[in-house]
Amino acid sequence: MADYPTHLSVDDARQFILDHCSRRRMPAESVLLQSAHRRILCHDVVAPRDLPCFANSAMDGFALRASDLPAVGERRLRIVGTRLAGDANVVSTEIGECVRITTGAPMPAGADTVVIKERVVVEGDSIIIRAGEKIGAHVRPAGEDVRAGELMLRRGQRVRATRIGVLASIGLASIEVFARPKISIFTTGDELVMPGTQCGRAQIHNSNGFSLAAMLASSAYISNPSTDPENGMPFRHLRDDRSLMRSALLEAAEACDVIITSGGVSAGEADYLPGLVAELGTIHFWKVRMRPGMPFLFGEVGKALVFCLPGNPVSTIATFLCLVGPALAALQGAANAIPAARHARLTVAIEKNHDRTEFLRAACDFRNDGVLWVTPMKAQGSAMLRGLIDADSLIVVAEGSRCMQAGDVVQILPLPDVS
Ligand code: AMP
Ligand code: MG
Repeated sequence: MADYPTHLSVDDARQFILDHCSRRRMPAESVLLQSAHRRILCHDVVAPRDLPCFANSAMDGFALRASDLPAVGERRLRIVGTRLAGDANVVSTEIGECVRITTGAPMPAGADTVVIKERVVVEGDSIIIRAGEKIGAHVRPAGEDVRAGELMLRRGQRVRATRIGVLASIGLASIEVFARPKISIFTTGDELVMPGTQCGRAQIHNSNGFSLAAMLASSAYISNPSTDPENGMPFRHLRDDRSLMRSALLEAAEACDVIITSGGVSAGEADYLPGLVAELGTIHFWKVRMRPGMPFLFGEVGKALVFCLPGNPVSTIATFLCLVGPALAALQGAANAIPAARHARLTVAIEKNHDRTEFLRAACDFRNDGVLWVTPMKAQGSAMLRGLIDADSLIVVAEGSRCMQAGDVVQILPLPDVS
């Protein structure tokens, strides 16, 4: 009898992995802001000062006192100076005066309103404004956006492309983030040859090494795959040779935080990985009630967590997205390691004749009704690649569901790089 759990539900498998990874969180490191994109913040970020930190104009125009705005007819005001963005020269407006101003320039003392240049007539060194302008218009008061001391970002949040500018706006040149796990990817199989090499009889090209490396690169939480020194690939290929695999695992377990393998984890004669993980370390669980992807194994060897993904290309992708991606997020301290559930309406009925969670390659589109609709690809075999060309998501059919009708709402898991 195995002394580890087997045939876990997808939810239990993922929760098990997340609990484990949260206990193995990576240490903090400081990174320059330009290298911080997609990293996970290790500390809360509090505004050190008001944003904006001085009242400034939101438009190009003339800064003036609201009390000078005419209630009826027109009024002439004298232009007493100019303030461009970046000017800190001393200018102020007295009654009957105005200052030419550009967007982002500090409001002159005394002024509380900006009238945009298109709405005034300039005559020599004065302007004529008409009735109807709004008191206090086009001024961005200090602290309007964020107040000094306010919590802006939290530990565990990801530095998205849009958030990195916010961090720059409060003057941070570097931030503390969780370190990225060092990852070794191994593909396995005697039948595999590298693209660029002619396939012999009974051979196929290695595709999983490339898709795994690309999924890592495009996953929300950037990671750090090591490169095979022999061929410069972001993964290393291993023949189905037990002792070769044994030494590769031992070596990677010394050097890495995470080992991801593809293939060799089922029940075939050359599927050495379960035995090797058991011999060299610990199997935490083996097999998940999912299709494709059932033979997935989670364990550890030395200081490395080991994720063994089944070799069928679609199994590799489904298990990576569903189980490994969240694990990497949790290791990097992400507050939301599981992507938020997304849903779409089925364009066609689907039937499932087993009790596992099914992942169907599918394509989504927004129709004129504003609703996201999803259509499963025709061919769904776990070795079938064609469906991956047009698929942008996986439909997740829960364990308990059997038949779903057109129009039913289903959960979807977006594939990488799909915006
Ligand atoms: P395995 O999990 O090793 O039993 O492999 C299952 C199926 O996936 C077999 O048909 C393999 O040829 C195929 N396969 C395994 N690894 C890869 C890979 N890196 N690229 C493409 N196909 C693979
Ligand atoms: Mg194999």
